[in-house]
Amino acid sequence: MFLLVLTFFGLSLGYSQTDTRLYDIIAEVSSQRIEKDITTLANFGTRHTLSDTISNTRGIGAARRWIKKEFETISKDCNDCLEVFFQKDLVKAGENNRITKDVWVVNVVAIQKGTKYPNRFIIMSGDIDSRISDPNNYTDDAPGANDNASGMAGTLEAARVLSNYTFENSIIYLGLSGEEQGLFGGKGFAEYAKQNGMEIIGIFNNDMIGNTTGVDGVESNRYFRIFSEPVPPTETDRERNARRFYGGEVDGISRQLARYVYTTTKTYMPEMNPMMIYRLDRFGRGGHHRPFNDAGFAGIRIMEAHENYTQQHQDIRMENGIEYGDKLKFVNFEYAKKLTAVNAINLARLAWAPPAPKNVSIGGIVEPSAKLKWDKVDGAKGYIIYWRDTTSPTWDYSRYVGDVSEFTLEGIVIDNFFFGVASVSKDGHESVVVFPNSIMR
Ligand SMILES: [Zn+2]
Repeated sequence: MFLLVLTFFGLSLGYSQTDTRLYDIIAEVSSQRIEKDITTLANFGTRHTLSDTISNTRGIGAARRWIKKEFETISKDCNDCLEVFFQKDLVKAGENNRITKDVWVVNVVAIQKGTKYPNRFIIMSGDIDSRISDPNNYTDDAPGANDNASGMAGTLEAARVLSNYTFENSIIYLGLSGEEQGLFGGKGFAEYAKQNGMEIIGIFNNDMIGNTTGVDGVESNRYFRIFSEPVPPTETDRERNARRFYGGEVDGISRQLARYVYTTTKTYMPEMNPMMIYRLDRFGRGGHHRPFNDAGFAGIRIMEAHENYTQQHQDIRMENGIEYGDKLKFVNFEYAKKLTAVNAINLARLAWAPPAPKNVSIGGIVEPSAKLKWDKVDGAKGYIIYWRDTTSPTWDYSRYVGDVSEFTLEGIVIDNFFFGVASVSKDGHESVVVFPNSIMR
């Protein structure tokens, strides 16, 4: 009977909803290895972008060489499945007031090539560099244990776990530099991606994923934030004008990526509570997903829910009984493991998913039913139409419509909902939802 029921659902859906490998991936992420890597990174003393590059024990040079070596070790264990290299750009003194001398901003790149779509990339990033109170002090100790050794260690650990699987799309594990000096590493790599014609599915920028005690005393190891900007900064006047009439002011590509991470987390890690924050980043503050957004790519920031400002960008000191500094002892490694697992399952799902449907258009003006139409993509088992109330942040209603390129949602009035379409593989891995970009009349 049980088998019969399963078969029935399998047939009616046409694809499988659960891939148990995602539970394996969650289980394989190790807090001990993350702790070891954060410890190693913090022990380089400072990883300031302008710090020493000669020493093998102190400064950003030692740190990036260690990260590269670590990726190379991971690659050896998976039959050379990673292509590991430095990507660098010279930033000249005076570029801004945080670049006080000419400096090579050097990123560490590890690419796990996809078997079917090698030129489509989903990226996870952390930052190599650190800072203390004076952003230009590149000699004193700046352990940057949480900001952002945690994101870097998470990225290394995701590579360790996911390199044991093969994917159809490529995954990039990325260590970025120059974040604290003005987001230079992200800018450099986004440009590199454009110049090389890389198709970027999106970037998960991990910046501070290890703090569970907020500056206000709130403790939580179950919440985290997903920052995403509403619409791309690259949109044209025509696109902006169209939004007045057709909607889409909360439906840009980065926001869809945020919803994707939200849904994957709710489905596979229900113990975690993702908070979608409807803004580019913290109020007036920045992060390394921004240069990717500037280049027209989807990008989000994944981050702890509760920050502690006495433990970031601070000289190490005691003051009025408060211990200042971004020290190892303040990092919760179990929490960093959880957020690393969030990244890993989303990287895996997207790397297993077919490309998103192209040229999605919508119609149904003064009609009783909404119609959607799209170009089919290679590798999709079928398509899912999503819709939601206009006030809802999440895609609450969906319908699998099979391997078709258009569909009418009978009795669903276009005026009262927002709509989107995703493609899905036979294993149930979905693309990011595409918001319609043209109108059928
Ligand atoms: Zn910072």
